[in-house]
Amino acid sequence: MPAPVYRPRNPIQTPYYRCVEDHLETLEQVYEDRFERTYGFFRPHVRKVMERYLDCGNLLNGFARIKCEDCGHEYLLAFSCKRRHFCPSCHQKRVVEFGEWLCQNVIKAVPHRHFVFGIPKILRRYFLYDRRLLLELSRCIWESLKIYYQYCMPGKNSVPGTTIAIQTFGDFLGFNPHGHVLITDGSFPEKGLFKVAPAVRLKYLEKIFRSKVISLLLSKGKITPDYINLLKSWKHSGFQVFCGPRIHPRKKEAMENLARYIIRASFSQERMTYLPEESRIIYRSKDKRQEKAFDALDWLAAMCSHIPDQREQMVRYYGFYSNVSRGIRQKANEDALIPCILEPDENKKPNQKWARLIQKIYEVDPLACPQCQGLMRIISIIEDQEVIDKILGHLGLWKNNQRPPPKPKSLEIQIDSSDSQLPFYEEAFDQDFEVSADYPTV
Ligand SMILES: [Zn+2]
Ligand SMILES: [Zn+2]
Repeated sequence: MPAPVYRPRNPIQTPYYRCVEDHLETLEQVYEDRFERTYGFFRPHVRKVMERYLDCGNLLNGFARIKCEDCGHEYLLAFSCKRRHFCPSCHQKRVVEFGEWLCQNVIKAVPHRHFVFGIPKILRRYFLYDRRLLLELSRCIWESLKIYYQYCMPGKNSVPGTTIAIQTFGDFLGFNPHGHVLITDGSFPEKGLFKVAPAVRLKYLEKIFRSKVISLLLSKGKITPDYINLLKSWKHSGFQVFCGPRIHPRKKEAMENLARYIIRASFSQERMTYLPEESRIIYRSKDKRQEKAFDALDWLAAMCSHIPDQREQMVRYYGFYSNVSRGIRQKANEDALIPCILEPDENKKPNQKWARLIQKIYEVDPLACPQCQGLMRIISIIEDQEVIDKILGHLGLWKNNQRPPPKPKSLEIQIDSSDSQLPFYEEAFDQDFEVSADYPTV
């Protein structure tokens, strides 16, 4: 069987692309009336991300020429939009890159745990309307963990290494801000020593987390003391802390997968079906047991609420993994004393790095020649519009890659019947219409 080869994708063919293309313009028009109350105003950055996605992977916007050194076989690779959280292909590249980077540069080869921190439904909307609170949520999670770890492992240097990624989506794209935590299962009290933490007592941790989030919302004027009393009166607080089993440092792949998981995309193309005639999306749950039908505009509006702002960082590092701690160790040339879970590979050229990432995502090598398995190289980058048109025209690809023009919008027609001598059909219909017994009355 021949080795699989990398075929430059054509995103224009996917149902997701078609859905965005069919509805983006209408979404912009109706957003204020239909969605602003639920999701807040339509952020300019969100519009840009969606528009750029429609041009991602389109040869008309420029490409690289890739050629086999042995047999001369050649293909074109279109530029991508590099926008995270909305473009499935670019986000996936970022996810793989992040997983590798985190395991090579941050996560030390010691036991870790995965925590998830969630907040009650009633409090989630504050984070939707004020996205700066998401950073504060990350801090609340860190402070809770720090207090908890110092309580069970007292000592001056007893701080765990922590990576916290905030996600905002639930299973069906509802707004559910929560934090995924990768934390060392213990701390580094002195050089060359890692002390494993005792078993986790989630009840304590949840209590600390709850009081941190409540004080945050109180200090920001989002809730009142009366409201807090109401929250306290509930049998189940709605705050959740989940903790996974201890992850051994030998489980490199599990760790890398987990690192990818914490910044995964808000939706999966495999789980969606687009029905263009009905303007509907059918979306299945992760376990595929449930499905939900959405109006395409409702679905897109929900998707938009999960796109972070331009400079919004969803991943933060604390304690032993904080940027400051890592910087100090690097300066003192001490960071490598405790190795990371994956060895860094510094000698790779950017060209090879890209090929390796594609290989990780699709399990094929984009730089292996489909004709002779020889090594392919990027021979040029084409960005000049005239040259782009010329090459694509020459290859007969120009038309295929052109986005169809937007469909004309139907006009609201005013009907003036003042001069009409005949009754409207509908009126005539009403007169003859007999209401039968089982016809529902309003
Ligand atoms: Zn070849
Ligand atoms: Zn893209």
